[in-house]
Amino acid sequence: MRIGIGYDSHRLVVGRKLIIGGVEIPFEKGLLGHSDADVLSHAIIDSLIGALGLGDIGNHFPDNDPQWKDISSIALIRHVVELMRFNGYEASWVDTVIIAENPRLSPHVEAMKQALSESGIPSGIINIKVKTNEGMGFVGKGEGVAAYAVCLLRRIE
Ligand code: MG
Repeated sequence: MRIGIGYDSHRLVVGRKLIIGGVEIPFEKGLLGHSDADVLSHAIIDSLIGALGLGDIGNHFPDNDPQWKDISSIALIRHVVELMRFNGYEASWVDTVIIAENPRLSPHVEAMKQALSESGIPSGIINIKVKTNEGMGFVGKGEGVAAYAVCLLRRIE
């Protein structure tokens, strides 16, 4: 068994789509970043790469590399799923938290699990929790969105 933790945050700005967990969510702002800035997918990626002991998302998908510009983060997770298989592991469980003051994300959780499963991680082993930050800090002020992920990998027989 291997365990991994991931964290990510992105700034909320006007003129960008809001994509979280592979789902486009209607909102007046979106997350700023080199790829689609999908904060939940990035936290999941870092947890998986961490469990593999292979560094972090920046080693694998450098933000100055044009091949990753505006790419779907679901496609990035798919790369990491391949990396897991290559290293002899598969995901056993992925638990996550998204922290956002607005918009309300709970209506989108099931769609996120479905979208994330297109990466090769079954929706039945993904859990997504949504929280606000009770008005405190950068999340509470609506300046950005944060996400945490923890995963457990098991050795493929
Ligand atoms: Mg990120």
